[in-house]
Amino acid sequence: MAAEKHEFQAEVSRLLEIVAHSLYSDKEVFLRELIANASDASDRHRYLALTEPEKAGESGSYKIALSVDKDARILTISDNGIGMSHDELVENLGTIARSGTGKFVSQLEGEAKADLSLIGQFGVGFYAAFMVADNVVVTSRKAGETEAWRWASDGKGSYTIEPAEKVERGTEIKLHLREDAEDFLEPHRLKQIVQRYSDHIALPIVLLGEEEETLNSASALWTRSKSDITPEQAKEFYHHVAHAHDDPYATIHIRAEGTLEYSALLFVPGAKPFDLFTQDRKHGVKLYVRRVFITDDAAELVPGYLRFLRGVVDSSDLPLNVSRELLQNNPLLPKIRKGLTRRVLSELEKGASAPEYLEFWENFGAVLKEGLYEDFENRDSLLNLARFRTTAGGDPISLDTYLERMKPGQDAIYTISGERIESLLGSPQLEGYRAKGVEVLLLTDPVDEFWIPAVASFKDKQFRSVTRGAADLSKIEGGEDAKKAEDLPKSGEIAKLIALFKLTLGDEVKDVRESQRLTESAVCLVADSGDIDMRLEKLLRQHNQLEQSAKRVLELNPGHPLIRQLIEQVGTVGAS
Ligand code: ADP
Ligand code: MG
Repeated sequence: MAAEKHEFQAEVSRLLEIVAHSLYSDKEVFLRELIANASDASDRHRYLALTEPEKAGESGSYKIALSVDKDARILTISDNGIGMSHDELVENLGTIARSGTGKFVSQLEGEAKADLSLIGQFGVGFYAAFMVADNVVVTSRKAGETEAWRWASDGKGSYTIEPAEKVERGTEIKLHLREDAEDFLEPHRLKQIVQRYSDHIALPIVLLGEEEETLNSASALWTRSKSDITPEQAKEFYHHVAHAHDDPYATIHIRAEGTLEYSALLFVPGAKPFDLFTQDRKHGVKLYVRRVFITDDAAELVPGYLRFLRGVVDSSDLPLNVSRELLQNNPLLPKIRKGLTRRVLSELEKGASAPEYLEFWENFGAVLKEGLYEDFENRDSLLNLARFRTTAGGDPISLDTYLERMKPGQDAIYTISGERIESLLGSPQLEGYRAKGVEVLLLTDPVDEFWIPAVASFKDKQFRSVTRGAADLSKIEGGEDAKKAEDLPKSGEIAKLIALFKLTLGDEVKDVRESQRLTESAVCLVADSGDIDMRLEKLLRQHNQLEQSAKRVLELNPGHPLIRQLIEQVGTVGAS
């Protein structure tokens, strides 16, 4: 059979063009990517052998082998993982399916050059082979199939596929190295790269030669004791599992023993993953059972409000043949989730007084706050972890700090919510509070509208919106009073004006009253105490969840020159 010729998808061609011509200095990452793929392929075969043994064929121990042919300048990477069929070769090594990759390619082409080492993060790690090779030959035999296929390309727009001979199941990748990439034929160089990037890979990575040498520690990182993991190893492992490139904010190593046994190596990213708020994001925590990879899609494993976590959980209690479907109803998972959640929250609490915590909060606070209404059991921890910007300015503060700073006589935690801090700070409803020196929490996350009513109070102090209900600032000591009694019109005088407003506005407003919260502005609108707050109403209306909006209460500032003049005029009208 003659070789079939296929064109690369246009986007792949563009990527290859860049990859081949880049002057990128850390070309060694190609090996990290090919080893990661070989390791994934072994994980997938192991899982297949458990769930569909008839398809998996013979099992055995997995390993990744490197070999060099100095004369021919060829580096070979082979695995005995799941392998690829003819169609999978076409699908996986000729097209880019994942969304987001196009953006990566455009970034690479653009002015601000994206970092080529991110290539694995965008699901195109295989193509990194062309950083060092001008010819790549992939021979693969899929588990359970007898025929093997050879894929070959010089990375210039097309590739060929033809039938091949291959005795062992799995994939072999031969890289014909460019002249300037000859150092990747040196055993010490290969060893150095493997130890730098791939030491955490749980199966042996060996260099074939006169005697076979294992280059990595080849034990699952998360099963080692804490003292046996260096920060560098943990970080590389994080990059590998999370497809990330940042430094983790926190590394959490758990070894639970007793009634429920599991170990976990979890990471809180240092940077915000792009898919934090998309529905179909991949779950970042992989589930293993006794070092066998089961799934990276176990939604039960961590609560939604910890979806930024990345890493691995390995259970010794789940049955090895647990299929992804069976996982959904397995009673152990909620137990593991409970333990993990508690542990992660307590680790976060431990670090919450450090300055870096604020960066964590900036990245993930809005997600964590979802737990305030979802997870009653951990509400107290979450309330301790929460940070808020306030009218006092400066760094976000905790609720405890807020309580410490409360004014004598103040009995509530005041809040105001809206889309942006800047516009909130200009709200007339804040004036009276500001004059009294009362701090108000500035809430800008939509989720705030949902957890505040659910939580209602913190340490016996109610949360109270300054845009809802009547303000009663008279009991709070200190500051200048919003108004000085002798300057103010008598209540009988303003009553006439209020009556006139009511008469004129009719059904447009729910009520008109004298305000305690205004010092500068003449009037403002607030929600009545029994109605939903203004921001929530806006949010619900945006999502078509609300048919009718509640009427507002109009408040008048009796100390304002405009209102005074109106009072006088109304008075004259009445007299004549
Ligand atoms: P990613 O690993 O993020 O999916 P890659 O570009 O590294 O992206 O690989 C693309 C796909 O090619 C993989 O998802 C996998 O299906 C397939 N693949 C690559 N290398 C191997 C291998 N050694 N064995 C089996 N499949 C492989
Ligand atoms: Mg890959």
